[in-house]
Amino acid sequence: MAAAQSKASDGTTSERRWLPRGTLGLRGLLSPLNVGAVACLVFIWWFTLHQLTKEHDRLIRDAEARTEVEAQAFGEYSLGSTRRVSEFLLDLRASWLAGREVFEQVIRERQEVVRDLTFQVSVIDENGMLLYSSIGPVTERVDLSQREHFRVHKESGGHDALFISDPVQGKVSKKWSIQFTRPILKAGRFAGVVVVSVSPEQFAGFANTLTVGKNGVATIIKDSGLIIARVPDPAVGMEKPPRKRQFNEPGAPETGSYRVVSGTDGVERIIGYHHVPEIGLYFLVGESVASVLEPFETYRHTAVVGGIASTLLIALLYLTLRRQMAERKRHLEEMRMASLVYASSSEAMMVTTLDGEVVDVNPAFTITTGYGAQEFKGQPSDAIRSECNERAVVDAMRTAVADKGTWSGEYLIRRKDGSEFPALLTIDTFAGSALGEPRRVALIHDMTEKKRAEEVIWRQANFDTLTDLPNRHLFYERLRQEIARARQAHTQVALLFIDLDRFKEVNDTLGHDQGDILLKEIARRISAIVRGTDTVARLGGDEFTIILPDLSDAGAAAPIIRSLLARIATPLQLGQESVEVSASIGLALYPRDADSAESLLVRADQAMFAAKSAGRNQWAVFTPALQRAEQERLRITSDLRVALQQNQLAVHYQPIVDMHTGKVRKAEALIRWTHPARGEIDPADFIPVAEDSGLIVEIGKWVLNEALDQLMHWHATLDDTLQVSVNKSPVEFRANATGDTSWPKVVMRRGIPPHSLVVEITEGSLMADNADVVEHLNDFHRAGIDIALDDFGTGYSSLSYLKRFDIDCIKIDQSFVRSLADNPKDIALCSAIVSMAHALRIKVIAEGIETEEQRAILVAAGCDYGQGHLFCPPVPPAAFEAFVVERQLAET
Ligand code: C2E
Ligand code: MG
Ligand code: MG
Repeated sequence: MAAAQSKASDGTTSERRWLPRGTLGLRGLLSPLNVGAVACLVFIWWFTLHQLTKEHDRLIRDAEARTEVEAQAFGEYSLGSTRRVSEFLLDLRASWLAGREVFEQVIRERQEVVRDLTFQVSVIDENGMLLYSSIGPVTERVDLSQREHFRVHKESGGHDALFISDPVQGKVSKKWSIQFTRPILKAGRFAGVVVVSVSPEQFAGFANTLTVGKNGVATIIKDSGLIIARVPDPAVGMEKPPRKRQFNEPGAPETGSYRVVSGTDGVERIIGYHHVPEIGLYFLVGESVASVLEPFETYRHTAVVGGIASTLLIALLYLTLRRQMAERKRHLEEMRMASLVYASSSEAMMVTTLDGEVVDVNPAFTITTGYGAQEFKGQPSDAIRSECNERAVVDAMRTAVADKGTWSGEYLIRRKDGSEFPALLTIDTFAGSALGEPRRVALIHDMTEKKRAEEVIWRQANFDTLTDLPNRHLFYERLRQEIARARQAHTQVALLFIDLDRFKEVNDTLGHDQGDILLKEIARRISAIVRGTDTVARLGGDEFTIILPDLSDAGAAAPIIRSLLARIATPLQLGQESVEVSASIGLALYPRDADSAESLLVRADQAMFAAKSAGRNQWAVFTPALQRAEQERLRITSDLRVALQQNQLAVHYQPIVDMHTGKVRKAEALIRWTHPARGEIDPADFIPVAEDSGLIVEIGKWVLNEALDQLMHWHATLDDTLQVSVNKSPVEFRANATGDTSWPKVVMRRGIPPHSLVVEITEGSLMADNADVVEHLNDFHRAGIDIALDDFGTGYSSLSYLKRFDIDCIKIDQSFVRSLADNPKDIALCSAIVSMAHALRIKVIAEGIETEEQRAILVAAGCDYGQGHLFCPPVPPAAFEAFVVERQLAET
């Protein structure tokens, strides 16, 4: 890891090393393989072209040589022919001079020659007139004095030489002919001309024996450049004027060759020529380049096919090599990466032989186990096996590795110093060629941290952080296990539901920190009492549960419960204060009361609730009656919802009178419910249910609005100083109504003097979440609404509340009023309460006054107001009005 970091820190070089190399980069292009492949291709094509050129040149050269030789042969042969004609001319001339008869004799004798070579023999006199023609008798005068040969011989001044004429077209026959002539000399003087006409094709006939191929030609050209014979197509080119050619340039060799495109037929040819100066003729043999190169075309075709085949072969070879090299490169890269990972990995790795002998370990292995690479090499890999591994795990691992070559699982590893740690061990076998011999690689992942984290998570999920007791989740798990076990063993499981009494009070007065200490102490006390097999859990808040398995009957739990109650109730020191708390405990039994964990808990809770209702520090066993009560509560809840919608509710008013004047000063609004089937239902029966279900909030709003409507009416019709008091339950405070629905806002909106509304609260509200209630009461107070503390005398530390909250009056509870007549002590207490309240400027109302005696005592004690059946029970508005009117009348 450190190595990797240090490499990374040297910036560009290491970065470049990690960059993928561009395959199209210059370096890639100039790789030996590419260069080799291109060189091969270049060589092959160069060689092919070279061979082609060579072959081409050879063919041309051969053709040149061949045509030269043929031209020579052509020339030699024609020279021979010319000589024969020349001799024939000499013979003819001699015989002509010997007389006509001799001459005709010679002609006849030499008929063969005449027929063979010539088609005409003629004799011209010194004036150019035709004297003789072998074609037929000369019957008319034919003037040939304009013939070239005649002029040449005449002008030569008696010089005896063979003359070969330019081709001439017969005036009669229209045939072309070359005329071989000699002068007839008489006594050295010009006396006429002997003419032998030879046809060009015949003269050049030898050329037909030459192998000149397709489009080949053989031509005889005079020194002047004039064509006199040509094979084939003898007539072609005859009429062309003489012109300069390559070979008759001054200084040109007598024999040679050249290449030319024919002006006549457009064919390109190689021409071999030979000059015979003796007769002033050039002999040319031409082969068409096309026919010369005919074999070359086949050769070229073969060579190109061969070249393409070689190219394809090389391309194939190249691609194969390239793939192999890429494969090899990738393989090397993989190897490099693998060794990099091996060396720099934070995971411990160990390489062994198939027999388990250590071949190598990586640095992380040394860090993890303490074994250095050198000291551990050659050791058996088992050296790091902890003895604490289960036999079955070790065997399973060995079998899997032997059979499949791989295994992965949790394994305890022993370090060099003897300490051990849990690891995830992964073993793999590599038969790969990269390692040479087959090897096993073991990866050891230290799971200590993971296990620790898992443990923490497990604890968080299953245990209560404050008390360290199992939480609701684990509680359910254990309870289900115990129920399952009991189901099998046909035993019973008891579940205790413990709820601390008045824990909230402690929390509120002493603070949450002290509350936490209290909970911890209670948890400790509970745990100390139960058996090891029992499970104590904290469900939340001040609720605890105990699972007591293997219980014979409910009675068997009694001693435990009693000690629990006693133990919990023992005073405990919280900071400066000595605090006493008690608990209410409910008990439910599996399978008697419920058959599932969830319902068993509900039963135990119901039993606990019953215990609490029975007056705290009590315990109760679940009974079917409790269940029925619960069902009743559920029914009331649902019926109450309907009641709200169907106007089954009504508000009655009970007058509160001035104890001294007897005048009605206030009216307490009290809800009434006439159930369509069950008739009148007591508020004491449905108000607590409405509180539990939260319905009380809606009911409260409804009652307030009814009462305010009524009050406005009465202010207008009866008495505008009348106050109406409305009960507000603690739950309503918790619901925290603010905004438009809060009572002060409602009063203000309706334009009712706030002072005419009294809100009756119980100590329960004051004990609820302090800050919130104080805030609410302050709101009431600021708005001018009076606050009355209801049921005074039934609470616990009533007087302390009077000091802490802004209370306007207290209502002495009817139970207290009832005991007045029998208990003189209560009379004294009553007087004390009244005078203390008065000292705090708090008015006192006595509730439930039923007898004149009670009234008298209360008046004597100084009570300000009275309420009770003695005056008037709660009545509908009309009756209330009647009562008030009657009272007023009575007074007057
Ligand atoms: P409370 O606020 O203490 O109301 C006085 C109770 O005493 C009324 O019972 C009333 O009928 C009764 N009472 C009055 N004078 C006498 C008497 O001389 N003798 C006897 N035996 N009883 C007398 P009620 O109407 O049954 O109400 C019971 C409780 O239900 C009330 O006690 C109050 O806490 C609650 N409650 C009634 N209406 C409402 C309501 O609209 N909202 C809320 N939150 N609670 C209400
Ligand atoms: Mg009341
Ligand atoms: Mg009361």
